[in-house]
Amino acid sequence: MLRIEHLSKSYGEKKAVDNLSLHIQEGEIYGFIGHNGAGKTTTLKACVGILGFEEGEIYVDGISVRKDPIEAKKRLAYIPDNPDLYAFMTGIQYLNFIADIYGVGKERTERIEKYGEIFSLTGDLAQPIGAYSHGMKQKLALISALMHEPKLLVMDEPFVGLDPKAAHSLKEIMRDICRRGGAIFFSTHVLDVAERLCDKVAIIKGGKLIKAGGMSEVKGDESLESAFLDTVE
Ligand code: ATP
Repeated sequence: MLRIEHLSKSYGEKKAVDNLSLHIQEGEIYGFIGHNGAGKTTTLKACVGILGFEEGEIYVDGISVRKDPIEAKKRLAYIPDNPDLYAFMTGIQYLNFIADIYGVGKERTERIEKYGEIFSLTGDLAQPIGAYSHGMKQKLALISALMHEPKLLVMDEPFVGLDPKAAHSLKEIMRDICRRGGAIFFSTHVLDVAERLCDKVAIIKGGKLIKAGGMSEVKGDESLESAFLDTVE
């Protein structure tokens, strides 16, 4: 579903991601772990076509993000760690705007109702986004990401700021996407989340992939422990 091949990305002299290769298959929830500045966000943004890169190739469902970004983007959704939404729009205007962009037809009504209820946001959709709390903005970004039923969901620290009920709902949605043959790639700093939720994890340090594999294989490995310890320091 997502194939990263020899990805390298620099900011000026700084090599943020260095020759990283990773394959995320249909049905997998894949966690991405590393300390601050390790290169997670840079990798995620490259995967979803927001950030260009000098070397390597990235394929979403077999489509090159570099060569055919629009087709790749139709199949995925990205939720950044700090969603930047249009404050002047109401929640419902924003969802309709996103649904229009992705060409979602009448199905949008049912999806807005369904996810609005799941994330307890239905009553707030008539309010301007400028009046939303951080958690409400995150929930709106999640609902908008689900409008076109993406096959690949890429998320940067998705659980930060979500209340426990919303976090539980998101985990259910992640599992449901995978059951339907999709895949999830997300970064987290929370060991418990990684252990409970992920089928596989990849650990990145200084832009380099240092370990990737099944949660049961990586569990207990000192690279996993240190990836989390580093983030606490
Ligand atoms: P965090 O857990 O803190 O979000 P991260 O693993 O997501 O960190 P990145 O944001 O990908 O890390 O950053 C990787 C490296 O690239 C860091 O050294 C960072 O300082 C650098 N970097 C990121 N964005 C830029 C930018 N726009 N310009 C210059 N350097 C950048």
